[in-house]
Amino acid sequence: MKKTAHIISHSHWDREWYLPFEQHRYYFIKLMNNLIEQFKKEGNAFQSFHLDGQTVLLEDYFAVHPENREIIKQLIEEKKLYIGPWYVLQDAFLTSSEANVRNLLIGMNDTKAYGHVSKIGYFPDTFGIYGQAPQLLKQAGIDTAAFGRGVKPTGFNNTVSDTPNFESPFSEMIWKSPDGSSVLGILFANWYSNGNEIPVDEEEAKVFWDKKLEDAEKYASTNQLLFMNGCDHQPLQKTIPEAIETATKLFPDYTFKHSSFDEYTEALKGSLPEKLQVIEGELRNQRTDGWSTLVNTASSRIYLKQWNNHCQTLLEKIAEPLAAMNYLANGTYPREYIRFMWKSLMKNHPHDSICGCSVDEVHREMVTRFETVAQMGEVFVEEKAAELGQTIDTSKTPAGGIPLIVMNTTGWNKQEVVTQTVDLDKVYFSQMHFEEIPGYLQEKEMSGYKLVDDEGKAVEFQLESPTIEFGYDLPDDQFRQPFFAKKANLSFYTEDIPSFGYKTFYLVPNAHPADQPQALSPEKTMEMENEYVHVLFHEDGTYDLTVKATAKTFHRLGIYEDTGDIGNEYMFKEAKGHAAITTKGVPAEFAFLEKNALRTVLEFQHTLSIPVSADGRLEIERNKLIWHKEREAGRSSEMTKLTLRTIVTLEKGMKGPAFKLFIDNQATDHRLRVLFPTELQTDTHKADSIFEIVTRPNIPEKEWENPSFCHHQSRFASLADDKMGLTVATDGLQEYEIVPEDGTIAVTVLRSTAELGDWGYFPTPEAQCQGMQTAEWQVLPHENDVIFSKAYIDAYQYKVPLMVIQTSAHEGTLPGTHQFVNWEPTGLVWTSMKVAEERDDVIMRWFNPAGTKENLKAGINDDYQSYKSTILEEKITESTNQYEVKDYEIITLGFQPTRQERER
Ligand SMILES: [Zn+2]
Repeated sequence: MKKTAHIISHSHWDREWYLPFEQHRYYFIKLMNNLIEQFKKEGNAFQSFHLDGQTVLLEDYFAVHPENREIIKQLIEEKKLYIGPWYVLQDAFLTSSEANVRNLLIGMNDTKAYGHVSKIGYFPDTFGIYGQAPQLLKQAGIDTAAFGRGVKPTGFNNTVSDTPNFESPFSEMIWKSPDGSSVLGILFANWYSNGNEIPVDEEEAKVFWDKKLEDAEKYASTNQLLFMNGCDHQPLQKTIPEAIETATKLFPDYTFKHSSFDEYTEALKGSLPEKLQVIEGELRNQRTDGWSTLVNTASSRIYLKQWNNHCQTLLEKIAEPLAAMNYLANGTYPREYIRFMWKSLMKNHPHDSICGCSVDEVHREMVTRFETVAQMGEVFVEEKAAELGQTIDTSKTPAGGIPLIVMNTTGWNKQEVVTQTVDLDKVYFSQMHFEEIPGYLQEKEMSGYKLVDDEGKAVEFQLESPTIEFGYDLPDDQFRQPFFAKKANLSFYTEDIPSFGYKTFYLVPNAHPADQPQALSPEKTMEMENEYVHVLFHEDGTYDLTVKATAKTFHRLGIYEDTGDIGNEYMFKEAKGHAAITTKGVPAEFAFLEKNALRTVLEFQHTLSIPVSADGRLEIERNKLIWHKEREAGRSSEMTKLTLRTIVTLEKGMKGPAFKLFIDNQATDHRLRVLFPTELQTDTHKADSIFEIVTRPNIPEKEWENPSFCHHQSRFASLADDKMGLTVATDGLQEYEIVPEDGTIAVTVLRSTAELGDWGYFPTPEAQCQGMQTAEWQVLPHENDVIFSKAYIDAYQYKVPLMVIQTSAHEGTLPGTHQFVNWEPTGLVWTSMKVAEERDDVIMRWFNPAGTKENLKAGINDDYQSYKSTILEEKITESTNQYEVKDYEIITLGFQPTRQERER
């Protein structure tokens, strides 16, 4: 049978990379205008063009050419221009589980306006893909994925192995998620440029096709061969019709077809062999030499990852659930604004953006984008919390009291110390001449206070000395209202704030002196403890961490380690001939900053002497474009100081101490890590990934040559034997490594490098991350492993604070304590609460992190009926009392208002 060569025209469009966004866009506009011209001129001789799987490109184009919207729409409807399914081509590991869903949900919703979506899970350039991607795609009605990295094509003898593997004899394979969902995987075994710039000239075409056909046939499992006519930022090849004519003439045994993924995958599926290699789980180049994995983008420009974690948390764990709770109380949900915030954030999620592997201009713009997302998120949360506060009945506030509502927007009950600035007194400019107000407030005598909960029970608290500050209200129906307020920081311990709920507290004037917890006198030994753990610090800042319930101790955790880095934004390469410099045995200076019944805060500081940079050889190697693996530069003999200031906090209710590190980085070309030598002997460990707490081996496959074996994490990495475990939860620190010898979890806190890497020399001085840098993490000891012990709940709750709002005494429809949604069991990981994109249904999502079945019960109240939904918010089953959740399944429930509710 004749073989078919499917030629798919495309251009892989990194919106920003070795050029800033606007400069890449300049060329993109040219491409699009040429494309419109080409379709007009050639008619059906130029069949179609694949627009790189990302709908954001249409927004980029229409911003300049809004007049071409109709032409583009028509091209999409006629299946000449293929768009979707994603909004952006994001990095799969450095964005959250929900961000990966929203990318598909928003992308696919956007395509509805244009009439056709390309239903291929398109990951052409993605730097490795999470194992749950097949499940995600399947739930979105997509059964085929195409990717360029992660699996090694072997081709040799084309023998399919019976055991799951990370190498495949064919470019086609079955790719399976841990829950058993699978898709047809298409590997760009000869890259997504294997049909780029096809010659029209017969002689050149003969040479081209002889080679390209052979390369494709080496891996193809069928007679349908794929040729990707394009590459990164590739201009349009207008001569495709002529090139196909030439090829047809030269190779009569082949049919050359200007094709699309729709046509290619249909033909492919009709001719697949009975047996294909099965690939299970995450694709991380496991069966390679380890030098081209691009994994160290996880530690390139860590400030971007920290910003991203902050913004993702703000949108998905605070703003959305809060708005959904407010919707249940008040009936409105600003879905357009929320979508706008998500789209703004997702513009920072493309692989070359969030990976920190672009030129400096790109990342500077990203910081501004993150700032705008944070600005939007903050005002949104403040407004929604105030609206919700207005519906809560606080009319029983004692005279002169201040009602404070503690809101929990997460899926698990919370107990923690909250700290909030409270306005104790306030005078508006309309009440007194503004110049007189500060003095008046200053002199006005302050009463003592007591804090009581909703049932009148006294709560332990701490109120700092007040300050007088300017502020203003922006009412909905009046001009701005400036004031001066007497403000003070209030801290108190909150017990059992219900998930998706709140509790009301009252700060009440008290005739008796305020019975605040007294500051405890710091002891001579540097230690801290609460009801769960005891931490004893050694002179060098390392600490022994004991779990009180079991009396088990981890010794000497928290060593800092500095090594030279002569790699680039993509890959770490250790400088030659220099041992790591550590804080082991280096005395630190200690001071207690705070010690009372609610919290202990300790500070210690190290000053390390480290090489100021790499040696002179590195600049020569960079200029000569010597690949990182081959570099031999060492570290400079000139030294500089690296000041590391660590602040440790242990509060009541915390399962382990939290750390904030301030790094005054004056050195270049180096990497700083914090080490947790657990001494646990294990073959595998666990890490938080996308809808998965993934198990990974501690030792790489035999082909691995790179001495570094780093991995991605979303929020934590964890080591455990059958008795005890240690989980390190982090805030935007997304790279770790396991050192098997002493069971060390090594978390990268800073990486300084000075070039992009890849296809040329692009200096990136700002990737050196000079000046003050920070890093934050929490150390959580537990029994057993992170899943079985449910320590993941604490790890997921790290850096997702309770919210405290100050309101007034007023009537309301909601009681003082309330839970909007209840659910069980807690064996599932909650990821989202929102209102549907196109209906007034509340949507909730979880995943099962374990290999055991769970039964999920969840309810709002009698006004809402639940159903099981896909990740695209499409109803799949009717309401039942409980939903069986398979091993590793991602489950979405919708809650539909019953008739009475809709008529409200
Ligand atoms: Zn790319």
